[in-house]
Amino acid sequence: MKRGLWLLFLLAWLAAPLLGIVPPFWISLANTIGIATVVVLGLVVLTGVGGMTSFGQASLMGFGAYTTALLNTSLHLSPWIALPASIAASVAAALTLGAVTLRLSSQYLALATLAWSVSLFYLAGNLDLTGRYDGIPAIPAVSLFNINLAAPEKFFVVIWVSVALAMLATANLLDSRVGRAMRALRGGAIAAASCGAPPAQAKLLAFLYAAALAGWAGWLYAHLQRAVNPTPFSFAASTEYLLMAVLGGAGHIGGALLGAAIFTLLNDRLQSFLPLLIPTPGNFELVAFGCLMLVLLQTAPEGLWPHLFRPRPQPRPIDETLALPRRNIPPPGTLLLESIALTRRFGGLVAVDALSFSACAGEIVGVIGPNGAGKSTIFNLLTGVDQPSAGQIKFRSEEITGSNAAAIAELGIARSFQHVQLVAGMSVIENVCLGAHLRGHAGPLRALLQLDCAEEAALFAEAMRQLDRVGLRQHADRPAGSLALGQQRIVEIARALCLDPVMLLLDEPAAGLRHNEKEQLATLLRQLRAEGLGVLLVEHDMDFVMQLADRLVVMNFGAKLTEGAPESVGRNPQVIEAYLGTAA
Ligand code: ADP
Ligand code: MG
Repeated sequence: MKRGLWLLFLLAWLAAPLLGIVPPFWISLANTIGIATVVVLGLVVLTGVGGMTSFGQASLMGFGAYTTALLNTSLHLSPWIALPASIAASVAAALTLGAVTLRLSSQYLALATLAWSVSLFYLAGNLDLTGRYDGIPAIPAVSLFNINLAAPEKFFVVIWVSVALAMLATANLLDSRVGRAMRALRGGAIAAASCGAPPAQAKLLAFLYAAALAGWAGWLYAHLQRAVNPTPFSFAASTEYLLMAVLGGAGHIGGALLGAAIFTLLNDRLQSFLPLLIPTPGNFELVAFGCLMLVLLQTAPEGLWPHLFRPRPQPRPIDETLALPRRNIPPPGTLLLESIALTRRFGGLVAVDALSFSACAGEIVGVIGPNGAGKSTIFNLLTGVDQPSAGQIKFRSEEITGSNAAAIAELGIARSFQHVQLVAGMSVIENVCLGAHLRGHAGPLRALLQLDCAEEAALFAEAMRQLDRVGLRQHADRPAGSLALGQQRIVEIARALCLDPVMLLLDEPAAGLRHNEKEQLATLLRQLRAEGLGVLLVEHDMDFVMQLADRLVVMNFGAKLTEGAPESVGRNPQVIEAYLGTAA
């Protein structure tokens, strides 16, 4: 129904200029807006979703534009054959740049794209191949079924069909298995890694996708103008695209269109209005935009879209009969995780000091100790979030020391975090679904074309089952950030369970829970133990951990103070002095 309405709206929009009822000036502005929207959609994914700033989108657009210009003029290929080549050229350029720069932190990435943008501008301006600063003229018009689409009102159709397709593709991509991994880049990157979705991969994908859209926009630009030169692909143009993204709302698909439209219209108005106000020649509209940007970043850093439309996660229908294949759980008592003389030094501080202990299937091992004893650090070491300075980690008797978080998740080791790592803006069920990342296989292409529906349905069914299990089913469609902190910890447990784990590591899961919620959690953990899972539990609530744990490991200053059954540990005078004594 909703899609039908959108389609009807699009058809009316496409038809209006063809009917001759729209003045040419407005068609030309709309064409500029459309092309900019395609580029800015890439920035929505890259900057708004992925948190990476790029000053190089116009350069990537240039790769697309010059590719089609060269293929059309020198090789006389059809523009339609040049389209995939243009997109491929931009993606290949981004791959080269990304391989070198994506490991950089975000401000250095921004600087690198800036440098790249400036150097490519001069390169295009000085190479004979690209026609130097004059560029490449006489690019043939696009035609379809022998209809020449050179006239702006006809090319309008090509541009706005592209905008619609790019919006749809972006929406499909973000609402997919790989899309959730990209959305976790801001705020939940460590958690995503621990769910088996490496942030580096998600970053690269966002970068390449944004480049593909830039290449597509470059192709549109070249065939609209029928000529290319370096100016529209300069650093200044890249900055304008970034401004549009920030203006519209970098985290929202609609924000791309809104930002491109407001910027283009305002730019046009300012260019005709400011010379009347200030007679001295100069690009004063840039000053106006600078001021606007400052005001906006102060008052609406999320851009205008969320303020105008207040988007909320949409409830999604879930077919809970769908199931995913399960992992084989080893019999109770099987040795699972071993920490062998693990050590982690932070400069002079020894946070974990030659710590050895193990955990078996069907067993709850409590790790207790005063604040700063090294409990969270040992969890980070065991799950590949951090690497040990010395010592070994074994899982099911195989050495896994040095493995990264995603590789460890693949073995069936899942965890929650003391400092909650949820993506606040994503719905609760989507956050939980991230935990099932490794149980799906659909890549970006299947996501873009929405060929992943069956798999997505099964992943969401699993997420709902786990949410139900932890008692938070009724909150499935709420933004995760709107839940109480205690509930957010429980959402993390549901996410961990979605991995279908063999071993579960929970860092202070009961903190912030009410009494009956703690009872519920205790029941769940007993049930998981009965199912044969191994559970490592860091907890400050002594009653909670004493009633649950089969064994306790007591840590103090990074080292193991003692280990044993809860009753004997509770009577140990050293423990009482180091921990229980101070806690009492
Ligand atoms: P616990 O979870 O038992 O409260 P942690 O494992 O968080 O303790 O911390 C153990 C010690 O290591 C603390 O003194 C803490 O300040 C230090 N520490 C933890 N992470 C880091 C880090 N990334 N850099 C420096 N010191 C750290
Ligand atoms: Mg801790």
